[in-house]
Amino acid sequence: MRRGRATKFRSPSSAEDVTWGRAHVASTHIFVTAGTPVRRINSIQQFHFMQSRREFLKQAGAFALGAPFLVGRGARLFKPSCVIIGAGLSGLAAAHRLGAAGWNVTIVEARDRIGGRVFSYRLPENQSLVCELGAEWVGASHERMQGLCRQFGIGLQDHRFKTTLLSDGAIKRPGTWHYTPASEAAFEKLRHEFEKYGQKEKEQLDRYDWWTVLEKIGFSQDDLRLRDLFDSTDFGESIRGVSAYAAASEYFESSPENEMDFKMEGGNSRLVEELVARIGRSAIRTGMPVDEIRQRAGRVTVTAKGEAFTADACICTVPSRMLDAIRFDPPLPSAQSAAAQQLQYARIIKTSVLYGERFWGDENFSMVSDRTAHYYFHATQNQRDAGAAKGAPQQGIITSYAIGEKADVLAAQSDKKKMDIVSNGLVALNEHASTLARGVAAYAWQRDRWTEGAYAVYRPGQWFGIRPILAKPHGKVLFAGEHLADWQGFMEGAVVTGEEAAGRLL
Ligand SMILES: Cc1cc2nc3c(=O)[nH]c(=O)nc-3n(C[C@H](O)[C@H](O)[C@H](O)COP(=O)(O)OP(=O)(O)OC[C@H]3O[C@@H](n4cnc5c(N)ncnc54)[C@H](O)[C@@H]3O)c2cc1C
Repeated sequence: MRRGRATKFRSPSSAEDVTWGRAHVASTHIFVTAGTPVRRINSIQQFHFMQSRREFLKQAGAFALGAPFLVGRGARLFKPSCVIIGAGLSGLAAAHRLGAAGWNVTIVEARDRIGGRVFSYRLPENQSLVCELGAEWVGASHERMQGLCRQFGIGLQDHRFKTTLLSDGAIKRPGTWHYTPASEAAFEKLRHEFEKYGQKEKEQLDRYDWWTVLEKIGFSQDDLRLRDLFDSTDFGESIRGVSAYAAASEYFESSPENEMDFKMEGGNSRLVEELVARIGRSAIRTGMPVDEIRQRAGRVTVTAKGEAFTADACICTVPSRMLDAIRFDPPLPSAQSAAAQQLQYARIIKTSVLYGERFWGDENFSMVSDRTAHYYFHATQNQRDAGAAKGAPQQGIITSYAIGEKADVLAAQSDKKKMDIVSNGLVALNEHASTLARGVAAYAWQRDRWTEGAYAVYRPGQWFGIRPILAKPHGKVLFAGEHLADWQGFMEGAVVTGEEAAGRLL
């Protein structure tokens, strides 16, 4: 799955000429629903606001007096320029916005592929079906993602599921498994309390892990184990290591389906393709890992494979674990590089298995299990198998989403073994599951060279501790990306932070 938190904050769209400060005000006063206490976004946005334009200008001045796009903007003689590091959604969204405003933009990307953690895939055995090796769902609250899909004519299809539970060898169909009433009641009580929390209480909650908080409020041990099976798929690690604040805001502020609502028709990479078409493929340099960012005399020079890209500003969207390998000159403040080293990314492997028929029955089948493959869902829900003869069974893909140690165990297996492990968990539904498997594609994000994990996991104390530090601009280098977003862990967050960074330059 993925993680998140709902805020009604809207980033300024590329068409809107909204300053960062005004966007902030909107987030606090307009989009927070009546009766809802000020939520996490307010503090973070306030922080951004206070240190954003003013501090950015101040810092920029310290690095680069007289930078043309920061002062006397009306008198600009040349097109301003920006070099963007990373061609994931964040970098692409930033480039799209700057390009629309007339900037010269170059994106420098380490991989040979564009899209980063958005990675749609078709198995060679059946090219008519598409699955996602990275981001899967577009949430019902994800306004920017939905807005871009509308703008580019990308259809969104229903991608919601009913969840079966496979636990201790027993299958429990949707609606037949529950938490105990006492745990349910404790959870609802916490929800009500959370809605009234002020900043102090939020920071206090952030110091605990989610498991401990649930135990403290009265969850039974069985319910805690169950909750961990479910919630760990959102964070990519056990809830024993996740900030209780990050978790509470995830569950108390998201859509009823927890933002697992839609998927793009034809695959999420369609959004990447549409953005690339607008930015221009020639503006994106792939296979170019950046190893230095240097700021001198009002300009930023980014170096990759010995080639230098100089511009008026830089937006750096690399996952924070990648920052350590980039030499900053002047260096990043020590608190910022320490924060980047402290932020961990989740271990997640997605294993998609193509089956000769959809023996799981319901199109909206999903299953949480206590097996190695962990979470199963029907990835080709609402997709027609174009190759199936009339009246013949449709092929379909089940994707397994395994986290933490399970992800490490699966990642170490051969493809054949991965396929067997996934199929074994489905034998309870059909004893021939293994023999119906036709092909497999797997991607272990914890082994990904350019992310070292699927998405950031904020551990106890880190949401309020290191996140604001990571978001600070460094001279004329702005940071963006999923890990800095209020919609952290989502495509929405990547797009919003990319557009916001671009907006700060305009
Ligand atoms: C398994 C998985 C499941 C997910 N599920 C969902 C979901 O259901 N819904 C959802 O909304 N989101 C989901 N996400 C999260 C979503 O994919 C991300 O939030 C989003 O794609 C991140 O975009 P980004 O631009 O911030 O980072 P990235 O996509 O990682 O882009 C950063 C880019 O920087 C590049 N880079 C790194 N280092 C360098 C360097 N030194 N020089 C140059 N380039 C560099 C990388 O190669 C990468 O292309 C999921 C992610 C994963 C992995």
